[in-house]
This record gives sequence, C-alpha cells and structure tokens, in this order.
Amino acid sequence: MTDTMADTWHERADGLSIDGRAVIDGERVAAASGAATADVNPATGAVHAEVAALAAVDIDRAVAAARGAFDDGRWSRLSAEDRKVRMLRLADLMQLHADELALLDSLDMGKPVREAREVDVPGAIATFRWYAEAVDKLLDEIPSTPPGSTALVTREALGVVAAITPWNYPLEIAAWKLAPALALGNSVVHKPASVSPLSALRLADLALEAGIPAGVLNVVPGPGGRVGEAIGLHHGIDALTFTGSTAVAKTLLEYSGRSNMKRLSLEAGGKSANIVFADCDDLPGAAETAARGAFYNQGEVCSANSRLLVERRVHDEFVALVAEAARAYAPGDPLDGASGSGALVSRSHADDVWAAITSARAAGSLVIGAERLEIDGSDAFIVPTVVTGLPEQHPLHSTEVFGPLLTVETFETEDEAVAKANATAYGLAASVWTSSLSRAHRVSQRLVAGTVSVNTVDALGLTTPFGGFKQSGFGRDLSLHAFDAYSALKTTWIQFG
Ligand code: NAP
Repeated sequence: MTDTMADTWHERADGLSIDGRAVIDGERVAAASGAATADVNPATGAVHAEVAALAAVDIDRAVAAARGAFDDGRWSRLSAEDRKVRMLRLADLMQLHADELALLDSLDMGKPVREAREVDVPGAIATFRWYAEAVDKLLDEIPSTPPGSTALVTREALGVVAAITPWNYPLEIAAWKLAPALALGNSVVHKPASVSPLSALRLADLALEAGIPAGVLNVVPGPGGRVGEAIGLHHGIDALTFTGSTAVAKTLLEYSGRSNMKRLSLEAGGKSANIVFADCDDLPGAAETAARGAFYNQGEVCSANSRLLVERRVHDEFVALVAEAARAYAPGDPLDGASGSGALVSRSHADDVWAAITSARAAGSLVIGAERLEIDGSDAFIVPTVVTGLPEQHPLHSTEVFGPLLTVETFETEDEAVAKANATAYGLAASVWTSSLSRAHRVSQRLVAGTVSVNTVDALGLTTPFGGFKQSGFGRDLSLHAFDAYSALKTTWIQFG
C-alpha cells in the first residue's frame, strides 16, 4: 500500500461517525444508569468513542427482548430458507460496509487495517454466507423403531443464546458464533470484549437493515466482571458460547452450575507447539510460515505457534531463518499498509507482554527483537522477539503470553518432541514439519490438540471444526459441528399401531 492509501485510511478514520450505544430490541440505547466508558485506540492513546457500560438491569432487558423474539416466532419460526435470505442480505451489507468494519476493528484493537480488510472482514462475511447456505440443507433423522411406530429425531433451536467474545478478532470470532446460532433460529445476546465493541454494534445495525427482526440480535457492551457475570448467572439464557481466557472459561462453568445449567461451549487459551523435524524438505518455507504462526496479528492469536521445537541438528540454521522471516512483522502505524504488525491491544497488555519478554531474555539467549517502540505517542508496539535456550522448566514454555514472543526448544527424538509439545495445560493446536508421511501420521496421532497442521501452521477453514482439548476448552466453532452448540436433538415418537 502506498502513502496515498495510508492517507486514505486516516481520512476514512477521521470521517467515521461512531455510535457506542448498546443494541437492545432493535433500538440503540444507553445503559440504564447512563454509564459509558472511553474507547481508546491503542495505536495512538486517543479516545475515539464513548461506549455504553451496561449492568445487570440492562442484561435483563436484552434477555427479555431476545426471549420475546424467540417465543413469538418472528425469527425462530421463519422457514430456514427465509432466514437464509436475510442472512445473505446481511453478508451483502457487510460487504458494502467492509472498509468501515475493518477500520472499527483496527482502531479498537490495533491490528493492521489491511489485515482486517483483507482477512477478518471477508472471513466474517464468508461465515455468514456459509451458515446461511448450510441451514436449509440440514437433514433430520427417522431411526429404526418397532412396527406400528415411527420416530422423528429433529434438531431444535435452544432459545436465547449468549455469546461472549474476545478482542483479538472482534468481528470474525463474533461471526463464528452468531452465524450458526442465528441460522438455526435462536435469538442472541452478544457481549463483545470491552476494548473492541464497535464492529459488533455496527453488525447489529446491519442485521436490522437486512431484515433480521428487532430483539433477535442484541449487543450489550460492558465490563466482563459485571455484564459477563450477569449473563453467566442469568436464568433466561439457554446456552452460552465463549471465546477468551481459560480463567474466565472456568468462571463460566461455575456460573452455569450455580444458575440454570445453561449449555456451554468454551474456546479458551492455548500454547501451541510447532515441531520442525530435520527431514523437512523446505526449511526456508517452514521458517517463513513459523514466523507467521508466531507473529501474525501481533502474536495475539489463541492458536499462535508460540513454541518452536526444532530437531537439534537443524536448530541453528532454522532459528536464523526464522529470525530473518520475523522482520516482516515489524510494527508500525496500523493504518499504514506497509506495517507488518500493529499495536498490542492496550498499554497494560503491552506491559504484560514486555514483562514476559524481559524474563525470557534474562533466562535465555536473545536471537532477535526485545524492543518496545513508541509510535504516534503510544508505546504499545513490540518488535517480534525470538528467544532460545530457556531452561527446560521455564514457565514461558507453558504460559500463554498472547504477544510477539517465540521461544525455541530443541529435541533429539520423536518421543521427546511429542512429550514436550504435550507438556502444557492447553490443547488447542500444534504443527508438524516433516517430509515423511509416516512420521506425520505417527506424530499427529500423539499430539493432544484440536487441530494439528502438517507442513503448515494454524490450518483453519469454514468446513473444519476449531476448538480445543484439555484446558483449551470444549465445543467447536466452524463447520457443521458448530450447530451442535446452538441446538438440541428432540425425539418425537409416534405410535400408530
Ligand atoms: P478474557 O479476558 O477471557 O475475555 C474474553 C471475554 O470474556 C471478554 O468479552 C471479557 O469481557 C469477558 N469476561 C471477562 N471477565 C468475565 C467474567 N467474569 N464473566 C464473564 N465474562 C467475562 O480474554 P481476552 O483477554 O479478551 O482474550 C484473550 C484470551 O482469549 C486468550 O487466552 C486467548 O487464548 C483466548 N482466545 C481463545 C480463542 C479460541 O478460539 N480458543 C480465540 C481467541 C482468543 P471484558 O472485555 O469486558 O473483560
């Protein structure tokens, strides 16, 4: 992108008119208390919006609106084809407003607007299209029953679904949850992350414009400790889908048990290993991809391949290649298309990541990075950092940092590689590089991870399920399996003997 393009994005950002009020029952509304919080651009420290800060009383209102919409059938009892048509219209409107949606995510959480525009927004649009198109092709079942009877096994929408989402892919992860939930006919109450609520609010406007009726999609910004708790404990919510940290996921399990046993689908943290065997026949290509796996989106990716396990005899060669490839992720102004990375989501998160980098540097050997930059008055920019030679038991081998820090370990045998890769509380993703098909299968089978990528990293698509093992949570986003989180099977047995 040229300077002119950067100027254009800055002009577009200056021209945005942002409404930070909640969306409840088809209306833009302030919090009942009138409370609002400043929405800060981490790349500049400037406030770009005031956002309603809701509380339990507002959640009651949103849940009542969602329940009303579900019970009177204005969405839930439309034919699947009717819902499909309106969701496809929503996808078209998202396309029309793609620049705006990309800007809102970039301004909120600091990612390069180019990536938001070329990856996140098209991904969210494709997700709405995919679930819209899938829902009228689902088939129910007629199982075998004794003569004189027949049974129908049907997939039923649950009612009111709440979605609590994180800030690293604000629009795209929201789409992963909202699209299948809405396609089935549920009503939704969506709480976006406090630092990145704007694309979700705008999406709800577009949904109304597309003909998704009032009350069906409600967006309730506010602090997780207050709004998230009110949602987690609410007796009027039938299911809760969450993406975020393992700590909050565990709290949601408690809330569900203390309230109405609402169904949970929990996508939590990760600490994913990228294993490189010496027989990989394209080490330069693997190194470029490993750098992407660790540093894309400022390393703020749940399935980031933040641990590199390299067979000892190619360690030095491979680490040098990764260090070179990491330069492509140098941070800069998120609205400038030349920037390989943007700002971390907030100053306080940048402080936490910086503390981890400082600790890694002290205990290991710095290969590249460990620089914190000030750009446009904000010091939330951190240069991609690679550290090798940390002691085996160092906590950074197993603790999620959620920033641009890659730690490197070595191994001698397959057994050692697998043992090290599996030695965390998480099980979200893992990658393996080898030119041996047998080894690829052998190692993949032994890795405890929801997704194993072979000769790539972070493989993900609309057609394949995404989610974790162990404390990375349970339930799956994406693919037809995502419908399971938002529906239950009903048996209707008819005796006609
Ligand atoms: P987080 O702190 O867990 O927040 C996630 C969401 O939960 C936010 O909307 C947050 O609201 C809300 N929340 C906070 N406290 C809550 C509570 N007590 N009750 C209910 N909700 C509460 O995570 P994050 O910092 O936004 O995101 C980073 C984490 O998400 C990392 O651990 C990352 O691995 C994980 N993640 C996982 C996936 C996946 O698919 N597995 C994808 C992306 C990210 P506030 O913003 O208001 O605090």
